[in-house]
Amino acid sequence: MVNIQQVRLLPADDNRCAWYESLPKRIPVKPLRGIEQFDIAVVGAGYTGLAAARRLGELLPHKRIALLEAQEVGIGAAGRSSGFAIDLAHDMRSKSFVDGLEETSRQTRFNRAGLAYLKEGVLNSDYDSRNWEELGKIHAAATLAGEAKLQGFSKVLDSLKEPYHWLSADEICSITGSDYYRRGIHTPGAVLVQPAAMVQHLADSLPANVTLYENSPVKEVQYNQPICLRSDSGEVKTNQLILANNGYAQYLGFYQHHLIPFMTYGSMTRVLNNEELKRLGGDNSWGIIPADAFGSSLRKTLDNRLLVRHTYSYADQFRASPRMLKRMHDEHRQSFERRFPMLANVDFEYTWGGALCLSRNGAPVFGQLRENIYGAFCMNGVGITKGTIMGKLIAEHLAGQRSELGDLLLSYPRPNLVPPGLILKLGVTIDLARRSIGVGLEK
Ligand SMILES: Cc1cc2nc3c(=O)[nH]c(=O)nc-3n(C[C@H](O)[C@H](O)[C@H](O)COP(=O)(O)OP(=O)(O)OC[C@H]3O[C@@H](n4cnc5c(N)ncnc54)[C@H](O)[C@@H]3O)c2cc1C
Repeated sequence: MVNIQQVRLLPADDNRCAWYESLPKRIPVKPLRGIEQFDIAVVGAGYTGLAAARRLGELLPHKRIALLEAQEVGIGAAGRSSGFAIDLAHDMRSKSFVDGLEETSRQTRFNRAGLAYLKEGVLNSDYDSRNWEELGKIHAAATLAGEAKLQGFSKVLDSLKEPYHWLSADEICSITGSDYYRRGIHTPGAVLVQPAAMVQHLADSLPANVTLYENSPVKEVQYNQPICLRSDSGEVKTNQLILANNGYAQYLGFYQHHLIPFMTYGSMTRVLNNEELKRLGGDNSWGIIPADAFGSSLRKTLDNRLLVRHTYSYADQFRASPRMLKRMHDEHRQSFERRFPMLANVDFEYTWGGALCLSRNGAPVFGQLRENIYGAFCMNGVGITKGTIMGKLIAEHLAGQRSELGDLLLSYPRPNLVPPGLILKLGVTIDLARRSIGVGLEK
């Protein structure tokens, strides 16, 4: 491994995400300038990096900790998500989100621990609690095939004695206003969040010994001691480093040819007016997860907008082209109008894409990567709770604090090798197309 790593690809998310754009303008903290000395540095202020920095600050109050973020907090994938903070296992590679009893039970333990740490972080302070809705989620099926997947999901929930209840088509309609679905399962533990508001709040309430630098992309890393992280106008010298920048970690020299870069896409309407709200009916807010992982997730937000998210694409540069965004807009539109024909006049105000990182075997990277260098990345599509717990546990691991969950994460295999660029792209694109056709009207 080289001692000086130039970072070839940096995040460059656009300003098309409704969650971030609809927030009151926040003044980002100043970028890194000059040479600064820290004990520990964390790269990436998404869920993982924010949790890692917070936990380090709590456990090591006498150490100086830096958190470096390439963009403003809330602009990256963390703030672009659909805001389902999920407590149960949620394997998007599996047909019905769950994969064997033992693994489902483990993933649920991780996610619940992440949810609990997130809750501590947001509800112990002046966070606007409207952005933390303990409503659970509805897994909804629009087709017979979708219903069969829900049956499989319910069997796993039964075996694990997890609470849930079935919803009829009428019950789903009375919650969401849409008569599109045949049947659903409500699971009570998920929390619906405004993701950009939540990560900004977490960033603004970090412990006093954590220094956040926004708009400070790490462009070069020198890995011998002290480790140096160089940005445009400054440098952090540090003894220890945590990489919490998900798929971008490969550009800092780790797990190249092991991580699969994806994007997924969301669209959100403008705010509905009173007459449109009446036409829609249903509850003030709710969240739908599709019965098939390749179907549409939907939310109604408390500020009266509707969100549609679906489609994954291979994205080796983590960028959404204008052509792709137009295609996504049009596809989301079809899904929206199928579900809400009474709102056919309501436009989308925003359509955006965001970066995801998957591995071939579904494994994350967690633990020590090299002397004094640690990593918690490759979230496999579900990062709000999983990223939070991985961030918390990597901080504890670095601080020498053991726990059952930390040991469990350390026992996981690491991501396995993927084929070279073009072959990977072709293979993934064919697989995505196949699954996308198979999903039918769940989309
Ligand atoms: C449209 C969409 C919907 C989603 N919905 C959900 C959902 O409902 N529930 C859920 O759990 N997950 C969801 N996800 C997935 C979730 O957003 C990610 O899994 C999660 O953001 C991963 O968290 P993270 O902190 O590990 O990485 P990220 O959130 O990607 O954070 C990494 C940060 O590192 C920064 N960075 C990268 N390189 C550098 C560098 N060189 N220097 C400095 N900083 C750098 C990036 O700017 C970024 O802010 C969704 C994702 C998308 C795109």
